[in-house]
Amino acid sequence: MTDLPRIYLSPPHLSGQEIIYLQQALANNWITTAGPNLNAFEQELCNFTGAKYAVALNSGTAAIHLALRLLGVQAGDEVICPSFSFVASSNPILYQGAIPVFIDCEPNTWNMCPVALEKAIQERMQQGKKPKAIILVHVYGMPARLTELMAIANHYQIPIIEDAAEALGATYQGQPLGTFGAIGIFSFNGNKIITTSGGGALVTNQAAYAEKALLLATQAKDSAPHYQHSELGYNYRMSNILAGIGLGQLGVLKERVEKRRQNYGFYKEAFANLPAIKLLPEMPGSYSNRWLTTILLSPEQPINPEVLRLALKKENIEARPLWKPLHLQPLFANYPHYGEPVAEALFKQGLCLPSGSALTTIDLTRIVNIIFDQFKT
Ligand SMILES: *Cc1c(COP(=O)(O)O)cnc(C)c1O
Repeated sequence: MTDLPRIYLSPPHLSGQEIIYLQQALANNWITTAGPNLNAFEQELCNFTGAKYAVALNSGTAAIHLALRLLGVQAGDEVICPSFSFVASSNPILYQGAIPVFIDCEPNTWNMCPVALEKAIQERMQQGKKPKAIILVHVYGMPARLTELMAIANHYQIPIIEDAAEALGATYQGQPLGTFGAIGIFSFNGNKIITTSGGGALVTNQAAYAEKALLLATQAKDSAPHYQHSELGYNYRMSNILAGIGLGQLGVLKERVEKRRQNYGFYKEAFANLPAIKLLPEMPGSYSNRWLTTILLSPEQPINPEVLRLALKKENIEARPLWKPLHLQPLFANYPHYGEPVAEALFKQGLCLPSGSALTTIDLTRIVNIIFDQFKT
């Protein structure tokens, strides 16, 4: 073991401004789910992404759930979802009693494969089950192949829920991720590129979606002096306290993206002469936020990612395997899956390296040196 400080995968990184918004909230008694921080946070999120409307919620998962409700997804409906993602991308499909149809990824972005997507849509339609929605994820902040995927979704007229939980600050052909789908969602969980300690948001250009999302997020209370409810709602609203943290964080989002991209650049340069390790370059037109820097180990050499993970762990450094494909999770064992087994290969050969925006050059050098040591014979 080492007595050097612990290095986490992707810890929160405060700007120092959060405390100002928190103090205002406490001083003025705006400590629940209404108040100036909430309004300002939603406005700033719109300014940053270019979305017309934003609704701040208590998690990204809640935002996906509401998006499914807004698109009318009901029990028994099918919803397309990538296999290579975090479980929160697909759990809300089950909340609705709907059926996830998993699409594997393609090797250039690690996101939804357009060929497999089209095949799935055609096959489901032949069986008389046109998918009700497509949940599209940008894993690790890397833009998916939006041109192809949007063309397919438009052709078959299936709305997209853009799960940009990991991709705030990334762009595709200059346009911010989260604004391509009918509805976009972000997460402000503690490990994301910016955080509200825990939280999320739904963004859209359609006023009706935004109004309905706010209604559903606040117990779907009808406008009446007494408690009157016509439909099923949830307690999903963000608190004005947490929105204050979010305001302090949004102010430095651009810098946070730049630093995460620098982390990627550092690793890329360090591993340039190590043929066993490959990183994921951006495709033309794509600007990743490099939420996490990920490496792939070539299968033709003896070191596997678990060896690296344990070597780092021994030195008090946190690294994590890539997402285990959702269609291989016991929870989702009985749902359809389309595409080549790319996600499975990524899971076997990949590793997420520490990627926080407060990493120093000393930290990064420590990490890289430990990895190099494993390849010394
Ligand atoms: C983090 C994450 C979510 C869920 O966000 P929470 O705020 O943690 O509920 C959804 N999708 C993806 C891809 C995520 O990484």
